[in-house]
Amino acid sequence: MLYEGKAKQIYLTDDADRVVIRYTDAATAFNNVKKAIIANKGVYNNRISAFIFGYLRDAGIENHYIAMLDDRDQLCRRVEIIPIEVIVRNVVAGSMAKRLGLEEGTRPSNVIYDICYKADELGDPLINDHHAVALGIVTYDELRGIYDMAAKINDALKSLFARVGVTLVDFKIEFGRTGDGRIILADEISPDTCRLWDMKTGDKLDKDRFRRDLGHVIEAYEEIYSRLESLKAE
Ligand code: UDP
Repeated sequence: MLYEGKAKQIYLTDDADRVVIRYTDAATAFNNVKKAIIANKGVYNNRISAFIFGYLRDAGIENHYIAMLDDRDQLCRRVEIIPIEVIVRNVVAGSMAKRLGLEEGTRPSNVIYDICYKADELGDPLINDHHAVALGIVTYDELRGIYDMAAKINDALKSLFARVGVTLVDFKIEFGRTGDGRIILADEISPDTCRLWDMKTGDKLDKDRFRRDLGHVIEAYEEIYSRLESLKAE
């Protein structure tokens, strides 16, 4: 094992440029304060993330995903993760609603991009472009490329989820550097990292069910997976 995160483990392979990412059933929220095991969450997140990264690859967005190996494991390109979380928001929710005193569900006229510094000991603070450059994490040029990719990913995912009756409220993505120095999309995109609301009922089909003790957590993940899966038949 190369690395163990909160809900994933990364394993080395015989190929220096490839890793295996294993999705576990561990769930955490509020910077590790709330913890639980949600049976089969890893299976759904592995399948959902594999589906989404495959879809994004087909849409021309280069990423680390290579192939699904089994229920919990996927083969990916090895990258050095850039310690920034990029958050893209189409609808106001969560920390943005709280911070700015806005009602959750408010639809702004623009797309909002936040960046957070990935540092557990600091609680992943919200930062800005200048902070990221000062920290030596990225250059201004690289940030421009990252925001450009984030916008393309948002467009692709908004229309994907709309096809299955789901509003993409917000999501978090991470990028990594490849051995040859390119910056590509990496990590995971799943109900753990997105807010997904049913278009008709407004039901939350994401990790807020766990964060806010709404119940039926795994059923929501299963629902997202089966809706995406139904697209394969089209
Ligand atoms: N998010 C994430 N990991 C984090 C923080 C946020 O995947 O460490 C996702 C979260 O699921 C949501 C979006 O990013 O889809 C925006 O989260 P927000 O900043 O509102 O924070 P939260 O309310 O989750 O604390």
